[in-house]
Amino acid sequence: MSSAPLRGMAGGITRSSLPSSLREGLVLPSDPRYGPLRHTYSYRGSPAAVLRPRTAGAVVDALSYTTASGLPLSVRSGGHGISSTSTNDGGIVLDLSAMNTVDVLDSGTGRVRVGPGARWGEVAQALSPAGLAISSGDSGDVGVGGLATAGGIGLMGRKHGLAIDSMTAATVVTAGGKVLTASAAENPDLFWAVRGAGANFGIVTEFEFTASKVPGVISTTVQYDISDTVGFLQRWGDTVEAAPREITAFLYLFAGSTAGMASIVYAGLDADAARRALTPFSVLAPVLGGGPQAVPYAAVVSSTRAPHTGAVSLQTRSGLVVHLDAAIAVRLSGMLASGTAATLQIRAVGGRINDVDAGATAYGHRHQNFSIFVGSDPARRGELWREWEGLHPHLDGLYLSFEMDKDPRRLADAFPPASLARLRDLKAAYDPAGLFNANFPLRP
Ligand SMILES: Cc1cc2nc3c(=O)[nH]c(=O)nc-3n(C[C@H](O)[C@H](O)[C@H](O)COP(=O)(O)OP(=O)(O)OC[C@H]3O[C@@H](n4cnc5c(N)ncnc54)[C@H](O)[C@@H]3O)c2cc1C
Repeated sequence: MSSAPLRGMAGGITRSSLPSSLREGLVLPSDPRYGPLRHTYSYRGSPAAVLRPRTAGAVVDALSYTTASGLPLSVRSGGHGISSTSTNDGGIVLDLSAMNTVDVLDSGTGRVRVGPGARWGEVAQALSPAGLAISSGDSGDVGVGGLATAGGIGLMGRKHGLAIDSMTAATVVTAGGKVLTASAAENPDLFWAVRGAGANFGIVTEFEFTASKVPGVISTTVQYDISDTVGFLQRWGDTVEAAPREITAFLYLFAGSTAGMASIVYAGLDADAARRALTPFSVLAPVLGGGPQAVPYAAVVSSTRAPHTGAVSLQTRSGLVVHLDAAIAVRLSGMLASGTAATLQIRAVGGRINDVDAGATAYGHRHQNFSIFVGSDPARRGELWREWEGLHPHLDGLYLSFEMDKDPRRLADAFPPASLARLRDLKAAYDPAGLFNANFPLRP
């Protein structure tokens, strides 16, 4: 943490002004590598520089350098953050994509070590030969760092929990430039905070997980022809809740289309049990296509690593609910019918996720069964915000990874009162000056 103050320095960011650990990984706007690094999935950025550290020590140097420069800081692992916090205009992006190793430390116990810059598809690929997997999300291109510091609602969640539920340790670079291990034994408060509110507390440079034994899954993508969205949503909700926890099902609906899509995963290879568990899903509406296949989990979440263009510019709102009841189904169906919602996505939670005590991790939503996400054309943001106000009394909590409303009241939706109070105290201890305030900041 020893670089000279750069604020107001003539000449801006130069290779020679950087600590040696960062020089090789510096990418300036004039560099041909800048194009694919400047944007994220959902935001076109123009940072003054991208720093690509390879070690926790280099992350410490990068933080020190950025603080001294007085420039805005963005932290990026996979660049798939929906609230567009992992790039900026005129600031410094700390891009962890080079810290992307995945190591199986013990295939017997499932102990694995994963870098924050790995994508979840790459994690699944690397763990597959050992018959191991970690439930993450529905996209293999999502980065480990952003998802594993927020929750991780994945396609085996009802069987194997959230991604954070498999975490056993994290190495965290704090605002003060310390490299701390966070685990049940070391800095347990920080370990608690990282599992749901990690973005507020530092930069995770390494994760350890206990992966689950997953020899394979039976996976199907079903296309439905849905004429009665309100009724379908309620039947979908009841069917998911009644399914064995081997089943995790995500539903995707689109404005102006009666075709709905569902990803349904049976976590295991028992073909008869899977057939029985999947049958109720085949009678919810006329099925246009889809059929179950036994595949490695890695086939469900493959990664393309396509460069980000910032082109996906949806405005999004989200919330958690216990049941997809009539009041909720009517409002969601109305948003699709009017076109306020371009897409509606409903991810199952519950099962094993809800076995965990609500106070055990900063992510404290352990009784809900569904996470709802609505994405809207930016031109219809106002309508979405207004209609979401009407839905809000029916919601029961919020997973911040799908939310774009920056109103501080969202924190009270995202964290139960006792957890929020604890988080604010920990924020005062670990980041009193608010260095990590880009992503739903907690004010001490
Ligand atoms: C197409 C798509 C599908 C998705 N599907 C799912 C899903 O099924 N389930 C689900 O749970 N989520 C899902 N998400 C949401 C996703 O989990 C979050 O957007 C997540 O933050 C992305 O992680 P990332 O590393 O790619 O993000 P980035 O854009 O790299 O980071 C986003 C923010 O997270 C924080 N952060 C990132 N890395 C670190 C780190 N190492 N240490 C501390 N803080 C860090 C920073 O504040 C950063 O700005 C989806 C997102 C997209 C775009």
